[in-house]
Amino acid sequence: PNVIAVLNPKGGSGKTTLAIHLAYALKEHGRTLLVDADIQGSARDWSAAGSSGLPVIGLDRPTLDRELQAIGGDYQWIVIDGASKVEKMVASGVKAADMILIPVQPSALDLWACAPLVDVIQARQQATDGRPAAAFVVVRAKKNTSIAREMRRAVEGYGLPLLPHTIYDRTLYARAITEGTTVQAMDAASEAANEIRLLTNRVLEAFD
Ligand code: ADP
Ligand code: MG
Repeated sequence: PNVIAVLNPKGGSGKTTLAIHLAYALKEHGRTLLVDADIQGSARDWSAAGSSGLPVIGLDRPTLDRELQAIGGDYQWIVIDGASKVEKMVASGVKAADMILIPVQPSALDLWACAPLVDVIQARQQATDGRPAAAFVVVRAKKNTSIAREMRRAVEGYGLPLLPHTIYDRTLYARAITEGTTVQAMDAASEAANEIRLLTNRVLEAFD
């Protein structure tokens, strides 16, 4: 399977929202599993709240990378909704992943909070000839602000790219999650669904 981990040690950074929407979109491109690696179990709660048709399992022990090897074979895509804070879990997610997306809200404080995660990722990349690929994604960006541009400058010192695909702050995301569904399922023609589609295409290209 192609494993994409959505990681950010900061709670409330947008991991679960991004992981759910990406997994739901990838489902159109092969069997997809969403792995809830957070003991809070938000992705499992989301799954129980609706009928998305997306398989969700909880794997919230630091043996995540090994457990995934045992069960992942049936899937073409695995998206890991990462844990907040628990450092061993983060290291395990980094090990399991072929690609890491780091959702980051458009604030320097949020970016700086990712420094320890970036260190773990870069150490892993150095030990393995560059795997996993990793990139920041700005989420909850406000329309008509220049913050995204400033983020682009701030991120340069980190040595990881910032994807040009921005996810905006939209109430539709919170509504969809609350109802156990996704923005795509609620309104396939929405701007939210469109930005998810663009990001998903970027992920698909990376595995081409
Ligand atoms: P994490 O999994 O990192 O803790 P969540 O995905 O649970 O983060 O998001 C934290 C909060 O931000 C939630 O209330 C969620 O509804 C909200 N949120 C996340 N992404 C967006 C978005 N693109 N637009 C609006 N609200 C968002
Ligand atoms: Mg979460």
